[in-house]
Amino acid sequence: MNNRIHQGHVARKRFGQNFLNDDYIIENIVAAIAPKKGQAIVEIGPGLAALTLPVAKRVEQLTVIEIDRDLAGRLITHPDLKDKIDVIQQDAMTINFKQLADHLGQPLRVFGNLPYNISTPLMFHLFEYTTAICDMHFMLQKEVVNRLVASPNSKAYGRLSVMAQYYCQIIPVLDVPPSAFKPAPKVDSAVVRLTPYQVLPYQVNDINILSRITTEAFNQRRKTIRNSLGKLFTVTQLEDINIDPNLRAENLSVEQYCLLANHYQAPQQIDKQA
Ligand code: SAM
Repeated sequence: MNNRIHQGHVARKRFGQNFLNDDYIIENIVAAIAPKKGQAIVEIGPGLAALTLPVAKRVEQLTVIEIDRDLAGRLITHPDLKDKIDVIQQDAMTINFKQLADHLGQPLRVFGNLPYNISTPLMFHLFEYTTAICDMHFMLQKEVVNRLVASPNSKAYGRLSVMAQYYCQIIPVLDVPPSAFKPAPKVDSAVVRLTPYQVLPYQVNDINILSRITTEAFNQRRKTIRNSLGKLFTVTQLEDINIDPNLRAENLSVEQYCLLANHYQAPQQIDKQA
């Protein structure tokens, strides 16, 4: 039997289609999401509705974003869904979640078994809209969940950890084995809850600077920050804010990255006309 055919649909690799096929796991995920009537529930990548159907049973209305035209078509005509579902047939990376929250009249509760090939860029896209999001529950590769929750001084700690932990409180919810999907992925998965802070624990003046510093530091994670951040900070500037220039990217806490971002001084513009 072809392992890529599920409910008459041939799974498309390019859309990262691995469909959930385990009622116990599905029940646990829906219990973790705990959707309630009246909330602005949004699913990314509903696929063949493994999560959509049990969630829809608990609410009166939900919005789903699905890139695959065939799957979107099935959802629109699904007898148990068609009266309560709004299907946006679009790439989730192009969705303005602030506009969607405005349209739905409240912050969003977002969830999804995310296509693994775009899960990290998609989370960075969602971080741009954290003020419009109440919480997010995502199925991800276990390795990505480990990176999301990693603490400093560990191998898994990287740019994703710093940026995600800047915006959100993050809690792993459930481990999921490959056998829970059809077709089965090659890696383990896990569900994680990300709750954007209403008040950020450490606030930066310019998020683009935090983004740049973490990129520079972790692109050369084996080097000391004296070297990896040498273009952005002098040794004296690091020492002035009590950050040891001999540390490496993975030794700095989120708080220290924020401190760096707020002390970054852009090079003076030279005004040629002066
Ligand atoms: N939710 C279903 C389940 O749990 O069985 C399907 C999950 S499958 C891992 C990922 C789903 O995301 C597929 O339905 C796929 O077509 C959809 N998808 C892939 N890329 C997408 C994108 N950029 N925007 C929206 N949906 C996408």
